[in-house]
Amino acid sequence: MELNPWGSSTIKDYDKLTREFGIQKMPNLGISNRYFRRGIIFGHRDFDKFWNADKRSVLTGIMPSGPMHLGHKMVVDQCVFYQSLGIKTRVLIADIEARVTRGISKEQAQKLALEEYLPNWIALGLDPKKADIYAQTNRSVPYYSFYSLLSGRITLNEMSAVYGNLTPGKITSALVQMGDILHPQLPEYDGPEHVLVPVGADQDPHIRLARGFAEKEHLIKPSATYHRFATGLEGGKMSSSRENSYIALNDPADVAVKKASNALTGGRNTAAEQKKKGGDISKCVVYELYAYHFAKSDKELAEIRRKCTTGEMLCGECKQMLAERVGEFMSSLAKKRERAKKEVGKMEIFR
Ligand code: SF4
Repeated sequence: MELNPWGSSTIKDYDKLTREFGIQKMPNLGISNRYFRRGIIFGHRDFDKFWNADKRSVLTGIMPSGPMHLGHKMVVDQCVFYQSLGIKTRVLIADIEARVTRGISKEQAQKLALEEYLPNWIALGLDPKKADIYAQTNRSVPYYSFYSLLSGRITLNEMSAVYGNLTPGKITSALVQMGDILHPQLPEYDGPEHVLVPVGADQDPHIRLARGFAEKEHLIKPSATYHRFATGLEGGKMSSSRENSYIALNDPADVAVKKASNALTGGRNTAAEQKKKGGDISKCVVYELYAYHFAKSDKELAEIRRKCTTGEMLCGECKQMLAERVGEFMSSLAKKRERAKKEVGKMEIFR
């Protein structure tokens, strides 16, 4: 099994993944957030230490390199949850990484961040006044000094052991990420603290490297949670090169509704067969969309599951309800995003 933070990883067996990479399974801690309750966050490294710490923060990155979609929303929702608990939230705009790994200019990355990503983050609930939002190209001097120091403390062999084949761009990207994850603990910033990084499993190489560095630099090892991948609407992996594989947050509501209506189901070949055998939720993207985003409660999700697997409900009815939810959500998000754009206009991230 290979995890590639810059490419495409697909994971069929999350148990195998946790075993192979030493990720701890997420226990039931009674956390009142659907990503925890519904098992969407499947694993962690030292989450318990973060959860029980007095001094802690959450850190995540925005990579402005393509349309922001429902897959990205999963991280936003988690950060908004932590922020609602009063936990400091750090959001970095990975414009150096976008440049060195995707060839996106600083100007393009900044435009995307200001016009699409940050307005959507705020529309989804982030309070920018209570978050530390910064761009990699615009952080203060100690951040860069630290990043330079890190580059002198690791060998190419050590990096290759974690990442496999590397290019100069990937080496830069990995080191900048280390700087991002660890620098909050420097005396020039907030000092030693438990930093949680919520990620998809493909980002684990960065987490492992950062934890190794932390040990060497006598810093607290960062914690991480790992959530499941969002499946592409047609099944398989979501890809920014296939517009119909994702619902972009900036899609007009009618476009999003159409995409949801065409999403892959776990339906049987005929209505008669489905009534007899029930649907297969393990193959159903519609069910995943309910579980990740659109079921109003765990009770409702359980009812959808029951009706599906007993054949009481067929896919047409199920998709119709999802499409309505998607339409309502997208219309409401668009209004909030327009308001958020005014707020972003007043922010001084790139000045
Ligand atoms: S009834 Fe709903 S959950 Fe079941 S397979 Fe069809 S679309 Fe999926």
